[in-house]
Amino acid sequence: MSTPLLCRANAYQRTFEARLVRLVTYAGCPAAVLDQTAFYPTSGGQPCDHGTLNGVTVHDVRLEDDGTVVHVLSGPLEASIGATVHGEIDWSRRFDHMQQHTGQHILSQAFARVASLETRSVHIGSEENTIDLDAPSLPSVDVVRAVEAEANRVVFEDLPVHVYVASDAALSQLPLRRPPQVKGEVRIVEIAGYDWSACGGTHVRNTAQVGAIKVVRVERHKGGARVTFRCGWRALADYSRVHEIISALSAALSAPRYDVAAAALRILEEARQIRQELEAVRSKLRAHEARALLDMAVLDAQQRRWVVHIDRDATVEELRALAQTLTERSDVIALLARAGALAHIIIARSEHLSLDAAALLRQVLSQLAKDSSAKGGGSARFAQGGGFAADANALHAALHALVALHTQ
Ligand SMILES: [Zn+2]
Repeated sequence: MSTPLLCRANAYQRTFEARLVRLVTYAGCPAAVLDQTAFYPTSGGQPCDHGTLNGVTVHDVRLEDDGTVVHVLSGPLEASIGATVHGEIDWSRRFDHMQQHTGQHILSQAFARVASLETRSVHIGSEENTIDLDAPSLPSVDVVRAVEAEANRVVFEDLPVHVYVASDAALSQLPLRRPPQVKGEVRIVEIAGYDWSACGGTHVRNTAQVGAIKVVRVERHKGGARVTFRCGWRALADYSRVHEIISALSAALSAPRYDVAAAALRILEEARQIRQELEAVRSKLRAHEARALLDMAVLDAQQRRWVVHIDRDATVEELRALAQTLTERSDVIALLARAGALAHIIIARSEHLSLDAAALLRQVLSQLAKDSSAKGGGSARFAQGGGFAADANALHAALHALVALHTQ
């Protein structure tokens, strides 16, 4: 049967006494049912309390369908049925949830008043909270800023937060943001004269205790807008962390704090230009290298040019680009390699030649890597392989032997 929730009557009660009704097992853990509790169970978008029962840690509090509250424990509770149990709420966790939840009511009402955006659903997370708005498009930065200012104005006005139960008749007189999800008597959380919500959660007693309300992100979500926000200590913790990051960036970029974004964008733009210039220089260098290699190419009977090039330091990318440059001509077969512990070979040919690059590669690999540690393959036009150790002499010998085979 339904467990009376002391936290509904007084959210500030941190300790309580209750009688042990039942000991059960929940998800493999010992668990206790009491005749009343100050623990808030996970419900209504608010996470549960943590704390202790007779000193044993309560790490989860579940609300069963019939209203029974189950306290999930980290160890056995040494108490007999009917005995009095002493409960303590982890107050910093609870107060944090109270700040976030009351802040959510204020922020939802501020979105409704300032931007005519209604809240579809809410979630109080362990780090960040979200409000999902019925919004046809993403609210602008200016709108979000105005909503945030409105919400914080309500905080600084220090409005009392009233919690009461309203009957059906009284309910129809209240400007509720959303119709209640339960029938009959409904628990109302009123931010005096500002917001009326049907809600079973725990709340602070005045809006000043919410502390700052900060929207940290707004994004598209399921056809609406998802607003991520933090309140109170969480907002301050976020500010401290962001401040540290900005200060570190400011020092690294030698820019005043408010200018770090512009300084970072400037550096990114410079880096983009430098990459572009570097690529232009590399391309020129490759053209030079290609010309020099073509001068040394071996001509075969069909006037095809066989180019061999071995480089100890080249990256695979560089070899590939060189192969590309060389085979832009109509008469080239390029045999390029990197020597070393992780050798790499590329064989490429001009588009309309009839040689099979993959077959040539297989020939070279079978000679160089007899233990079959080499992996490779490709098309008739471009093939590559590597993954074995080969020094420059061995590569030189193997590639030139292949050329000799086709040119004599
Ligand atoms: Zn609520």
